[in-house]
Amino acid sequence: MTNEELWRAALGEIELSISKANFITWFKNTSIQSNTDGKVVIGVPNGFAKEWLENKYNIYILRALRNIQSDIKEVACAIETGQDGNKNEQSIDAIIPPKKHVPVKPFIERTFQISQENNLNPKYTFENFIIGGSNELARAACYAVSQNLGRIYNPLFIYGGVGLGKTHLLQSIGNEILKHDPTRKVKYITSERFTNELIDSIRTQKINEFKEHYQKIDLLIIDDVQFLSGKEKTQEEFFHIFNYLYQLNRQIVLSSDRAPKAIPTLEERLRSRFEGGMIADVSKADFETRMAILSKKATDENLAISIEALSFIAQNITNNIRELEGALNRVSVSAQLSNRELSLEYVKTLLSELIASGKKKGITHKHIIDIVSSFYDINSADLIIKNRKKEVAKPRQIAMYLMRSELQYSYPGIGEKLGGRDHTTAIHAHDKISKELEYNEKLISEINLIKEQLYAVS
Ligand code: ADP
Ligand code: MG
Repeated sequence: MTNEELWRAALGEIELSISKANFITWFKNTSIQSNTDGKVVIGVPNGFAKEWLENKYNIYILRALRNIQSDIKEVACAIETGQDGNKNEQSIDAIIPPKKHVPVKPFIERTFQISQENNLNPKYTFENFIIGGSNELARAACYAVSQNLGRIYNPLFIYGGVGLGKTHLLQSIGNEILKHDPTRKVKYITSERFTNELIDSIRTQKINEFKEHYQKIDLLIIDDVQFLSGKEKTQEEFFHIFNYLYQLNRQIVLSSDRAPKAIPTLEERLRSRFEGGMIADVSKADFETRMAILSKKATDENLAISIEALSFIAQNITNNIRELEGALNRVSVSAQLSNRELSLEYVKTLLSELIASGKKKGITHKHIIDIVSSFYDINSADLIIKNRKKEVAKPRQIAMYLMRSELQYSYPGIGEKLGGRDHTTAIHAHDKISKELEYNEKLISEINLIKEQLYAVS
């Protein structure tokens, strides 16, 4: 079996165990470089892929390879080099060569043709939607609907905060349907525009045409239905259109920033219709998902940026995906203008305005002490009093580290806040945790979780 055949067979298996979007993102343009003495080296296009395959997908890869060739014991990744054979030394830093002197538009604003007929933007597809714990259920429901239109979840109701991917998912259903059958009648519309069109049709005495238009639709997607709140006439017309379509097993998909029962002044009969099908929510993305989204977008755009810089963005922009894209976009534009390498330091400066520091957000050492102690399930007083117990020593060091990294407290100040300890203790704690963060995966994810909570309270 050649390396190529082996890899193709392994990919076939890996594809079954991870999501499609992740599979495409991380395994595109990979190959087996060598396979000797039980060690397989996989060639990958860039540092992101190397990081991800080695850390996240190693087990899947090894398992798939061993199922085919049982003497394989080890897997490593190497960045494929171009013709010139220059190996990229800094795998972590893996810089994609910047495209010099190419005028490029900020990629978020790159235009896609939005269809006049159905209002769909072709950029929203399932293929480019990254799946994570926060959107898994909603994505699965949307995908299922796209494969069984009108036959499984009707209506499908997706809700969650702004910028978390609702519109992306809703439109993906429409685009998926049209990909397989362009003759289907799909319509995407926001509830506000729906309301305006309705009002217009009443004013111009074309209400019957308005209704007839909607009655022909196979898939009706209404985005942000919270704006129907308080609009009685619109709700009434929508109710009739809804019932008409529903009885014919046409698919209806809705989104809102909150669950149906939390939308004020929504007519009871409409509310119970909304609740009659499937309801799924999207929530804030976790660090890994944010990182995967950023890496995908950076790779798609050939953006020369280091992993550390991406991880800095993912750590600091936590609210929603739109802001995350905004930050990357800003970085991308600056890079093009200045023709500079996007190092961690440079990205930090660029984003310093976007990222309000802990101080600006009103976070204090008290928040840190409370969150760290509740995270490790210890008494917050134990963090402060002189107590050499091992189970409190580590959390105390973490609290000290965070006071320094998030609040920029002075070392003597940190010592003082933690029961009048000496400043050298604070320095030691900060150094120890910083060092450990370079290799200890568990600690990294613990500190990320603590930071998430810290910034969520403010
Ligand atoms: P919402 O409708 O919930 O306010 P959007 O669907 O408009 O949010 O998402 C905001 C932006 O973030 C869009 O550009 C979208 O493509 C992107 N986005 C959100 N979630 C994901 C994801 N999981 N994978 C890739 N891009 C995403
Ligand atoms: Mg939206």
